[in-house]
Amino acid sequence: MASRRSNDESRDLRLRVVELESRVRWLERRLKKVAAAAKLKEPKQKSSNRPRCPGCFAEVPRGKRYKNCVYCGFSFEAVKPLKPRRVRRSG
Ligand SMILES: [Zn+2]
Repeated sequence: MASRRSNDESRDLRLRVVELESRVRWLERRLKKVAAAAKLKEPKQKSSNRPRCPGCFAEVPRGKRYKNCVYCGFSFEAVKPLKPRRVRRSG
């Protein structure tokens, strides 16, 4: 009796494994599709010329000029590059 019961259990387990394997294969196929789609959508370093916040490195939204980063509140004026001036040479 006991052996019969364990046989049933092992059959159940095998069925489960088969089901899970088919699910995994389906997920793998789906993942490949998604990955391929993501590669197609990937911009080709178009955003590299956009200014970034020195505080959180998020891209600063264009259009409006913010004094502070909309994401972390970093004050851009704190790191504003000095206007190019003629360096006086002492001497
Ligand atoms: Zn920021």
